[in-house]
Amino acid sequence: MPESTDEVARRLREGTLAQELLKPGPRAVLTSGDCVLTRDELRDEAGRIAGGLRDVGVAPGERVAIYAANSLDWVLGYLGVLRAGACAVMMNPDYHSAEAEHILRDSTPARVIADGPRAQIARTLGFEVVPVDALPRAEAPPMPDLDADSPAAILYTSGTTGRPKGALLDHGNFLAQGRGALEVWRWTSDDTLVHALPLFHLHGLGMGLHGTLLSGGKAVLVSFTPEHVVHELTHGGTMFFGVPSMYQRLCEWLEANPTDLSHVRVFVCGSAPLPPTLFERCSRLLGQAPVERYGITEGGIVVTNPYDGPRQPGRVGYPFPGVEVKIGEQGEVLLKGGQVFKSYWENPAATKEALTADGFLRTGDVGEIGEDGTLAIRGRIKELIITGGFNVYPREVELVLEDHPAVHEVAVAGVPSEKWGEEVTAFVVPSGTAPLDEKELIAFAHERLAAYKCPKRVVKVDSLPRNAMGKVQRSRLVK
Ligand code: AMP
Repeated sequence: MPESTDEVARRLREGTLAQELLKPGPRAVLTSGDCVLTRDELRDEAGRIAGGLRDVGVAPGERVAIYAANSLDWVLGYLGVLRAGACAVMMNPDYHSAEAEHILRDSTPARVIADGPRAQIARTLGFEVVPVDALPRAEAPPMPDLDADSPAAILYTSGTTGRPKGALLDHGNFLAQGRGALEVWRWTSDDTLVHALPLFHLHGLGMGLHGTLLSGGKAVLVSFTPEHVVHELTHGGTMFFGVPSMYQRLCEWLEANPTDLSHVRVFVCGSAPLPPTLFERCSRLLGQAPVERYGITEGGIVVTNPYDGPRQPGRVGYPFPGVEVKIGEQGEVLLKGGQVFKSYWENPAATKEALTADGFLRTGDVGEIGEDGTLAIRGRIKELIITGGFNVYPREVELVLEDHPAVHEVAVAGVPSEKWGEEVTAFVVPSGTAPLDEKELIAFAHERLAAYKCPKRVVKVDSLPRNAMGKVQRSRLVK
């Protein structure tokens, strides 16, 4: 009998992270600049840092926040926290004091692993700091006695609407995530990932870092610039994960500096919609279509275009093994699987709202499942524009406007209006290659969309406000 989806989900969750991520071995596993760490070194270091953290008073089950820029030390600190049986609280290093304060007061970490000015912010807020470049070390303690349900990390939602909430992910969530990624993208110990994503986010952490450690392969940590990425891809890199705005910059660079990247095994893109025009441009300049995937912090990165088989622009593909996707009320995408979280950190009301009685996560995204079983994302329910009593999903309008030659990038949002309730408004970054004329762009939309969906106004902007993962922050456009 073949395994049921639930059985696959359970199998993929089994184990604990410190055991699975820190397997011994003589091969290089992480490099950054001139620094190279082997698996054995990583395992020893994580053990010794776990000992050091215990000595400064971090007990198993307590939380330790990480408030620092990407670096090998960041990774060592994080693995030390897991190895100590503690729970890591992920913080965006770009957070200012008020944002950091919300997360630190909410998660009450025993220590904050921090660098430079962030250490100062955490201290000023009254938290005990461990400098990321001077992590304490001592004799490694025994492996912690945990299981798949033990808390591993708290990842705060990006908070494009409202205050960030802490999604508590357990060891099983991360193991299902990492193992699923190995399977769907055929990731093996022969691979080298060019890792340029923020480590505090699920994309860079649960996919990039954990996938690398589980695969037996290696990762090169770089700060994102097209030059760095192309350099590493032409010097042994076999995989690259990015967000659409990274692919946009990569394409611009490759247009000016054509480079053969056809040997790269796979380019994966996600965390925000990949516009079909950018999909085509990537296919041409990278020598292959990127694999677009979809996910959410609370539910995991769990839907992907196929590794073998057609990759469709504008669609995010099929569920990972052990994952069930269905469409609920209002067209909402619902997810179930080993990756789906069980609760927000100390927020039962938000948890109750997020999960259905039968264990599906309400993603807040509107989607549609096609006859071939692939999912397409139409936008966030909260971003729905209600204009003159009609519902408009910004992404549908953006997709049309992106096809106009005068448009480089566009975000559509509802601006409060007495007449319409909300007025469909297009914020456009001009391409510069064709004149941007408001009336003509609106007429272009009218040829392709029902009248109520067409923008009433076009506002020229120099750039779109985006968060660290390249997601457009519409609330900042509508001020
Ligand atoms: P986060 O929790 O920060 O990973 O954000 C998750 C949200 O990003 C999802 O709920 C979607 O709205 C959006 N998202 C992620 N991947 C995609 C994608 N491939 N296409 C469209 N939206 C996406």
